Amino acid sequence: MSRTLITGGAGFLGSHLCERLLADGHEVICMDNLITGSIDNIEHLFREERFLFVKHDVTNYVMIEGPLDSILHFASPASPVDYLEHPIHTLKVGGLGTHNTLGLAMKKRARFLLASTSEVYGDPLVHPQTENYWGNVNPIGPRGVYDEAKRYAEAMVMAYHRAHGTETRIVRIFNTYGPRMRLHDGRVVPNFIHQALTGQPLTVYGDGNQTRSFCYVDDLVEGIIRLLHSDHTDPVNIGNPAEMTIMQFAEAILRLTGSKSEIVHEPLPVDDPQTRQPDISLAKRVLGGWEPRVSLDEGIGRTVEYFRASGRRE
Ligand code: UDP
Repeated sequence: MSRTLITGGAGFLGSHLCERLLADGHEVICMDNLITGSIDNIEHLFREERFLFVKHDVTNYVMIEGPLDSILHFASPASPVDYLEHPIHTLKVGGLGTHNTLGLAMKKRARFLLASTSEVYGDPLVHPQTENYWGNVNPIGPRGVYDEAKRYAEAMVMAYHRAHGTETRIVRIFNTYGPRMRLHDGRVVPNFIHQALTGQPLTVYGDGNQTRSFCYVDDLVEGIIRLLHSDHTDPVNIGNPAEMTIMQFAEAILRLTGSKSEIVHEPLPVDDPQTRQPDISLAKRVLGGWEPRVSLDEGIGRTVEYFRASGRRE
């Protein structure tokens, strides 16, 4: 049995990873300061003997008793609305939090996996984005706190790998959705689904011609687990290459929910990337033919079910 620490384990992606690692037979230590994570996401895991929750902010020194085989560093606000609300904490968790958890990985001789992001490419001038593209980021814009924190985190991971021989992995995560996203986290998937289910207008920012590609959480988790067990140290894109405009996405949500909501336009946030689509050839090659399997219709269907049920709880 191997023992894994997941920071941000009570968040959207973190909680799905906790579940998957428990299912794979691991012992899981879930660490979260609950700024954007929630106990609701993990309370069904408390009955597992192999699961331990520790409320802790990883920007402070991290101490874990006993051995650790791997550390998955997923702690960070990840929605533009969240990181604008917590700009300094976003910088600190990417900087200090990554430093502390890398130090722990070195001490425990654990494998370290960093949750990085497609935001390292900024508003990309290369399309689709390949891992060798260095990006187009505005360091001093409002999104800079997240983009630069993750770029710095990647640099620190590579430095620990080169200087100390720490075994490291970096996943660049593209837009991902599914159950346990927060209804009010401000991202397009929960916003549109919530608006469609409650008969409110869908708020398309700008003209809606900007593109994104949406990956269902189970596909992402499978890619991350394969990366953890692979021997690939350089960053790997994980996401769904099915690109669409935000306008097309709004129409898909109306179709899949059967909603009669109208579509309205609101101002485009500063530095909102115009295009985004992962090139996943590297992932396919080094992760045993991994590719997304869940279609948008199926994934959105499951996510709508989750939001309908959480609406009933509210
Ligand atoms: N967006 C939108 N309406 C919303 C929320 C977001 O049109 O209510 C747009 C946003 O401007 C961006 C895209 O949807 O172009 C994806 O935004 P999200 O916040 O989900 O994540 P991002 O990909 O920007 O990190």
